[in-house]
Amino acid sequence: MAEVRLDQPVAALRGVGAALAGKLAGLGIERVLDLLLHLPLRYEDRSRCQRVATLRHNESAQMALRVLETDTRNAPRRQLRVFCEDADGAPFLLRFFHFRNAQAQGFVAGAGIRVWGVARMGPGGWEMVHPEYRAFPDIAQVRPEGGVRPVYPLAAGLTQARLRGLVTDALSRAGGDPALGAGEVAALSPPTALDALRIVHQPPDADSAAALMAESHPARRRLIREELLAHQLSQRIVKRRMRSLDAPALDGIDDARDALEGQLGFAMTGAQRRVIGEIGADMARTRPMLRLLQGDVGSGKTVVAASAMLAAVRAGWQAAMMAPTELLAEQHARTLGDWLAPLGVSVVLLTGRLRKREREERRRAIAGHEVQIAVGTHAVFQDDTRFARLGLVIVDEQHRFGVRQRLALRDKGPDGLRPHQLVMTATPIPRTLAQTAYADLDLSVIDELPPGRTPVVTAAVANGRRDEVIERLRTAVAAGRQAYWVCTLIEDSEQLAAQAAEEAAGLLEAALPGVRIGLAHGRLSAADKQRVMREFKESQLQVLVATTVIEVGVDVPNASIMVIENAERLGLSQLHQLRGRVGRGHTESQCLLMYQPPLGESAGERLDVMRRTHSGFEIAEKDLALRGPGELLGRRQTGVVALKIADPVRDAEELPELADIAERLLDDSAERERVHALVARWVGDVQRYGHV
Ligand code: ADP
Ligand code: MG
Repeated sequence: MAEVRLDQPVAALRGVGAALAGKLAGLGIERVLDLLLHLPLRYEDRSRCQRVATLRHNESAQMALRVLETDTRNAPRRQLRVFCEDADGAPFLLRFFHFRNAQAQGFVAGAGIRVWGVARMGPGGWEMVHPEYRAFPDIAQVRPEGGVRPVYPLAAGLTQARLRGLVTDALSRAGGDPALGAGEVAALSPPTALDALRIVHQPPDADSAAALMAESHPARRRLIREELLAHQLSQRIVKRRMRSLDAPALDGIDDARDALEGQLGFAMTGAQRRVIGEIGADMARTRPMLRLLQGDVGSGKTVVAASAMLAAVRAGWQAAMMAPTELLAEQHARTLGDWLAPLGVSVVLLTGRLRKREREERRRAIAGHEVQIAVGTHAVFQDDTRFARLGLVIVDEQHRFGVRQRLALRDKGPDGLRPHQLVMTATPIPRTLAQTAYADLDLSVIDELPPGRTPVVTAAVANGRRDEVIERLRTAVAAGRQAYWVCTLIEDSEQLAAQAAEEAAGLLEAALPGVRIGLAHGRLSAADKQRVMREFKESQLQVLVATTVIEVGVDVPNASIMVIENAERLGLSQLHQLRGRVGRGHTESQCLLMYQPPLGESAGERLDVMRRTHSGFEIAEKDLALRGPGELLGRRQTGVVALKIADPVRDAEELPELADIAERLLDDSAERERVHALVARWVGDVQRYGHV
């Protein structure tokens, strides 16, 4: 039997043609390795037969039974009923809705039968519908089918039997791949990776299967630890390569901070000063900074970014700031311009929607060092923008970005010098998770809100009470306050959300005559959106009806009411982001979460969490518990962590040890091959990390 290599396409396995390969690709299985890392969801224990006394409702079971009698009837539905009992004499019913008469005759009174299926407590007692079965002469002769079978996640057109067959084929032929041996790390073994995979796919007995499910089996632990180690390695490789590059030493952040503070109408908080210090220390070194700044929505990250940019500019360099939306880029450009222009710094906005000539002009000014700070969406920085002396890159709202975008500006510096990088996020990531997700970044946290904020009063309101909500708007607007009314996505379609927003705006206009209502959604041109936002910011509009386009970063301190329609559809982090748009001034703010009853359990819990707490970190922990880490980090958008079997929260206690192992392996040049094998196995092509 020919051996297969793990990095070969699945077509190397027996019976895999283009059609099957296509179906497997739908599960993310392209290489033999992917197949082996497609781990069972659970196991079916066919090693023993159960009795009625030990059954659990809605769980699969194998049973040895004696047939008593059968009948067929047509009402309420045509069905075959086979009345049985187990060895204890406990009754058990089999039901078949699709059957041939010959099949009915196969159940002989007094004979034995082995069944496999989902046992349930039906109206007349324990039963199974359409079990797999096999006849035996007598109940005493019924033998279990034997073995423990893996149950895999499937895609259309694939069966368990098919996947099991492929995995068996792969396991029996992959043993000779040197890459498997190369990935052995003494601290992780035993078992070896191959043995661990064998056990996980084909557990020897039911107890092993149970231990595997409980994540306590050494084979499962081995794979989990190996995956976490591989991720630590890949991120530390990025970090090390980054650290081996040269960057301009940019001193003077303290002076920059003081100069900036003179332009602000407020004093910086202790937390802002502390993180500015951390950033300044990094920037003063000749190695590129790679730092993540975490701060709850409204904590004042922009001021911190501005201090760093001013320091870079005063040291004779340029700074770039990337925002996830045009709206936010425009807001940043304006804020920074207000603060920094009086200090002789010119700030320019670059967005994709500028007219070509205008964009070219601004790019020329950047290339000629006529402007010191450029703000834009990441798209505009990607290609043609050249900087004369780029020394600092700030990425705002990182959770919207992929790693690749984060690194897109890395080689825009002159003379082989790399700019320092600061990534800012308002998604509070629990520290445990940050260790895994961002092991390649240093972490600064703003853990204090600016003073004078009044907590937002949050209430959940059923749709039926919409009139009361509108009354509150009327009162608030009459008192000179402003309000957001947010329409959420029904499906993942900005188009439909835009429609909903248009309808809501129409309704509000009818209900609140004389109130100035604006509309912002993703289908407006950037210019229109910005005009509406500016009018709202300058209080010309009193109510802003919007889709979640306003989720990120928009700052209007006079707005004190946030109404969120269909709040039950949103995740906690998103709700928290939206609520963070209000409560920025001194008046008491309200957040009204409208929902369509009845509320599902987890939606009810989310709204409850929102009413109880304002701490972004607490909300993030809850979000993590309710949704899992992938959702929280926006895995789909960012690909930051795509863990297959490890769970960065559950397995967090492993991390310190694995981080040590990773450092040791990276320090030892003799371990290069091993490191690459591990990273290739779990994370992907190690070459991807070669260009930092
Ligand atoms: P975020 O961290 O969400 O990006 P911003 O930087 O937009 O927050 O700041 C939110 C608001 O708080 C802005 O209006 C900003 O001017 C204000 N702000 C920032 N720092 C302070 C401070 N130290 N004291 C008072 N207000 C502040
Ligand atoms: Mg912000």
